[in-house]
Amino acid sequence: MQTIRGFRDILPEQIRLWQKVENLAVDLFTAFGYEEIRIPILEKTGLFARSIGETTDIVEKEMYTFDDRNGDKLTLRPEATASICRAYIQHKMYATEPVRKFYMTGPMFRRERPQKGRYRQFYQIDAEVFGLDAAYVDCELIFLLNELFQRLGLSGLTAHINSLGCPECRPRFTRALLDFLEARKQDLCDICTRRMDRNPLRVLDCKVQTCQTALTGAPATVDYLCPACEDHFKTVKTTLEKQGVDFSVDKSLVRGLDYYTRTAWEIQTTSLGAQSAVAGGGRYDGLVKELGGPDTPAIGFAIGFDRLVEIMEQLTPASAPPGPDLFIVALGDPAMELAYHLCCDLNQAGIRTDTDFRGKSLKALMKRADKLNARYVLIAGQAELAENALILRNMQTKEQVSIPMDGLRRKIETLLKNK
Ligand code: AMP
Repeated sequence: MQTIRGFRDILPEQIRLWQKVENLAVDLFTAFGYEEIRIPILEKTGLFARSIGETTDIVEKEMYTFDDRNGDKLTLRPEATASICRAYIQHKMYATEPVRKFYMTGPMFRRERPQKGRYRQFYQIDAEVFGLDAAYVDCELIFLLNELFQRLGLSGLTAHINSLGCPECRPRFTRALLDFLEARKQDLCDICTRRMDRNPLRVLDCKVQTCQTALTGAPATVDYLCPACEDHFKTVKTTLEKQGVDFSVDKSLVRGLDYYTRTAWEIQTTSLGAQSAVAGGGRYDGLVKELGGPDTPAIGFAIGFDRLVEIMEQLTPASAPPGPDLFIVALGDPAMELAYHLCCDLNQAGIRTDTDFRGKSLKALMKRADKLNARYVLIAGQAELAENALILRNMQTKEQVSIPMDGLRRKIETLLKNK
């Protein structure tokens, strides 16, 4: 039996980097007042179709959707924003405190063509802010990403930012875009010609090469912003500049989801080959209302956890796991019984202890202690038990001391805790 295409196991040898990233992210988000939220993996299909957009690649081609036994259409979540909005509305969080900051990590599912850095089950670290429309919040989120990557020791990442405008400025832009597309219709793929009628903005993130070529010189949203959006974007840029956050304005960045308004961004790297986006985010001021909640500005980002770890793997050589504090070499049944109880007691007391119940020889067990990188070894052989004193060996200095069985656990605790 093998995993399904695009799905993979993350093994203990790999997990340390994942834990390091997650611990740092949680510390950072917590310091900035973000609270953890956990959302279901499965939701009604309509939630994603309505929020991400019927004409996006995700909804048109990539969702894992199935009919439940009672006929409900369900989908494995392809992203977190829609579900977090649903939770914000469903639990009427806006009624008690409209300004809320959330983070979450977990798996997402998209049926894309798998390759390095692109999986069908992948993981995201996500942050969302509700109830604030100030440009400073946009900056805080971009700053947070920048700070996290710095704390992880990553360099060479650039924030590409753009403004997608709001319902006020969109119609003027859409008209200009349609005029542009109309003149190049014959060069666009079938999906794009269909999208022209339903959602022309989506044509801009088509990945087909001929479409990309035809789109050279296409109108850009930033050139059609209304005064309020223009101001908002200007504050984002000047604030980030003042903070020394590295960014560049990318007029062609539109992101693959329909709900974005105003600031949208991607953090890109050159070290991952074709998959260059490590994180992406943006404002979605209309989404809470669209999903049935009150008019609430909101904004968020998602980090591609798998990709982030892949960049870190290139920089950090794999490290061995920390060894146990103590390894008990137990020879014979009575020694094994003693080792079992001692292991439980010492681990309970915070001294990482391991043993081996396979009945191996002294030589084999010493080798195992070495391989595990144990700091100390406690030798419990027949002779030691007969003499009521076990041998404790410091694996680094090779020093050995004899410890009487009477009060053994306490003595080991004192000895190891003081070293
Ligand atoms: P999105 O939700 O599309 O804005 O994606 C946010 C981030 O998730 C991207 O910048 C990627 O780093 C990551 N990501 C998206 N799709 C995949 C995938 N299929 N495999 C791995 N990472 C992904």
